[in-house]
Amino acid sequence: MSPVVSSSSSPSSSSTDAIMALNAEERTRILAKAALFSPPTGVMADGRRDLVGLSREELTDLLVEIGEKPFRTKQLWHWIYHQGVTDFERMSSIARPLQQKLAERFVISRPEAATVQTSSDETRKFLFRFRDGQEAETVYIPDRREDRGAVCISSQVGCTLSCTFCHTGTQKLVRNLGAAEIVGQFMAARDSYAEWPSPKGEIPRLLSTIVLMGMGEPLYNYENIAKAMKIIMDGEGIGLSRRRITLSTSGVVPLMDRCGDELGINLAVSLHAVRNDLRDEIVPLNRKYPIEEVLAACRRYPAASNARRITFEYIMLRGVNDSEADARELVRLIAGIPAKVNLIPFNPWPGSAYRPSTREQQARFADIVMNAGFASPIRAPRGRDILAACGQLKTASERARASENPA
Ligand code: SAH
Ligand code: SF4
Repeated sequence: MSPVVSSSSSPSSSSTDAIMALNAEERTRILAKAALFSPPTGVMADGRRDLVGLSREELTDLLVEIGEKPFRTKQLWHWIYHQGVTDFERMSSIARPLQQKLAERFVISRPEAATVQTSSDETRKFLFRFRDGQEAETVYIPDRREDRGAVCISSQVGCTLSCTFCHTGTQKLVRNLGAAEIVGQFMAARDSYAEWPSPKGEIPRLLSTIVLMGMGEPLYNYENIAKAMKIIMDGEGIGLSRRRITLSTSGVVPLMDRCGDELGINLAVSLHAVRNDLRDEIVPLNRKYPIEEVLAACRRYPAASNARRITFEYIMLRGVNDSEADARELVRLIAGIPAKVNLIPFNPWPGSAYRPSTREQQARFADIVMNAGFASPIRAPRGRDILAACGQLKTASERARASENPA
């Protein structure tokens, strides 16, 4: 039986046009602001250019610039993204002189793994250090029952938003991650499990899905995220399907439509509260894009269907947002949206002010949501012992600095 309730009440077309016009204006402002936090260029200290993170067109331009034919793009793409090689000498379909020419001018980078920790539940957390010394965390969460799992990728170093329950939110935004750094997190995680070459099509693989749920707000770094996801979805390389990628947002409404139209990946929305006064407090972005606007954007989300539901994330904070009345209001608000609700018990971090809801309260809440026809799994925390669970990410260097200078 489909868990989805009746069809949505869509706004009239003139009000939709007005919303779209406003959104276009806001989108321009958000993208201009993102440019102020740009990542470093792809040129190394020795002048060589990194090939990772370039679109096919950009790669072709570089090859043509050095006097090579455009067909080389396909060859290089295969070696970089299907075979996972980082060394031109291993590109056996390319003659030695060209290998040397490429190696003199280009590199195929990976972020450096500054630390790798594996939890007692097999969750693995990487602290990646990028070329300018900035760091971000990536987490691999294996499925408990099958040989597959999710890679949780960061989109920014720090975050401009300061959700009160989130460790990353206590670290100010340093900069956006570039496409090379975003794709690089996935490729370096794969290196760690020796999962190259890329299996074709739907063949199972260990690193089988991507969740853009690490540090940062991905829709505040939309251009780099979009470029990286297009590279990852390209069928001649890594070839992960859009159905296996989920982007989580705290509700950057103007870019939700664009993400659906352009990338068609799954959407997760960090809702966490059903009243604007409470959401204003715990997810401060709500003051700009309140609950009604976030839900309207979900109703419009192009990739949502009964087969591909929107995920609402709902953190369970004891005595704050976990009452039965909250659960009933939640199902009223999301009625008509093809959706499921992930209930995430609050994961504590050093200095955090909340406690997770009791098990009984989690179960009562989940029952109300489920009885209304929405799947409502309670997410078991993973990797808590290594601070790898949802909302616990904050780079180790930042943690060390914070403990040296307590506020
Ligand atoms: N910025 C995006 C994506 C990164 S946060 C967003 O907010 O959606 C990924 C998820 O972890 C979000 O649902 C977030 O609300 C949740 N989260 C943050 N802190 C948490 C904590 N301490 N315990 C459990 N989940 C948390
Ligand atoms: Fe940023 Fe998401 Fe954390 Fe909020 S929950 S501070 S948006 S990373």
